[in-house]
Amino acid sequence: MAADIDLELVQLRKVYPGGTVAVEGFDLRVKRGEFISFVGPSGCGKTTTLRMIAGLESISSGDLLIRNRNFTDVPAEKRPTATIFQNYAIFPHMTVWENVAFGLRVRKLPSAEIKRRVDAIIDKLELGSVAGAKEGALAGGQKQRLALARGLVTEPDILLLDEPLGALDANLRKSIQEELKLLQRNLGLTFVFVTHAQSEALSMGDRVVVMNAGKVEQISAPFELYTRPQSPFVARFIGRNNIIDGTLAEAAADRAVIATRFGPLSGLPTFDRGKTVTGHAAYAVVPSEYVGIEAVGGAERQDMAGVDGTCTALDPVGQVVYVSVRLDDALEVRLETHREMLSGRGIAPGTPVHLSWRPDRVTIVADA
Ligand code: ATP
Repeated sequence: MAADIDLELVQLRKVYPGGTVAVEGFDLRVKRGEFISFVGPSGCGKTTTLRMIAGLESISSGDLLIRNRNFTDVPAEKRPTATIFQNYAIFPHMTVWENVAFGLRVRKLPSAEIKRRVDAIIDKLELGSVAGAKEGALAGGQKQRLALARGLVTEPDILLLDEPLGALDANLRKSIQEELKLLQRNLGLTFVFVTHAQSEALSMGDRVVVMNAGKVEQISAPFELYTRPQSPFVARFIGRNNIIDGTLAEAAADRAVIATRFGPLSGLPTFDRGKTVTGHAAYAVVPSEYVGIEAVGGAERQDMAGVDGTCTALDPVGQVVYVSVRLDDALEVRLETHREMLSGRGIAPGTPVHLSWRPDRVTIVADA
């Protein structure tokens, strides 16, 4: 394992006593100082994976390495990790200072060392003004920082966060996201962050692991995940994509064509060409931000790909207008445009329209 790898999961698997396979075949390598987000729908195995890393859940098979050492069977208290839970688990009868000191007292550190470390982390997280206060007197952001301080004071190699912002309202959540990301950068510490919110996973993570039904669907940097999904699941889960089904007609390294009932559509393939052959079920993923719309009979651009349909709805939200277009009985697509792009074009519910996009904005994904 390379020296700068903090965490390595090798074919990690978890089967609960009742027989539920919660996690399977999970491979991941996390670099030191990286912020990794796990995202996926409820029940996909995010929390189970985090708990296996923390040592709070046993590992059924596979290996867990932290900084080159195998921790697969090492108990939680002997792992160089700290976990922050959604409810923070703050002791209400203790002050902020005592809450932070608690983990070090349990480890029986000398009191001078405890004082030095607790004072330092309280200072770093700007909790000095509330060091003597109890949980009831703290604002949401301060509770969040206290929870972080309690984890960080143990000087972990890796901080594990399980939906730590889940309890906060939307505005506070946004500002704490920024604070957390900044703190992580300044500390240079490896963070593994579990969330079910795709926007949070994308805005926080250096890389994002998308999970589905116990398996990893894709591990990518946020922009790549957003623009180049590798599976139909990721295309549906991340972003605002339209998905048009067909079968693979042509596949080169940088261009694939699928045959659809609306004609051939091309895009950039993200599937493994070794496994996917002509005739295989495949999908064109067309992001709703990149679709242009014209009333039929307008000037169609020859360099653009496209399909015909009927406008069914216009939903203006400020300057943005979401337009729904029915392509046939089975498929309605959505696009996002600006109010001024529609003005004077005679587009209304019931109008026949032509949709167009640049083929290089489209990704072709294949069924597994
Ligand atoms: P959520 O976002 O809802 O927390 P998650 O992605 O974190 O979901 P897990 O909590 O890891 O998913 O659950 C994965 C699967 O394992 C689910 O099918 C769940 O029902 C099951 N599971 C979780 N904990 C246990 C347990 N203690 N015993 C048995 N099955 C469990």
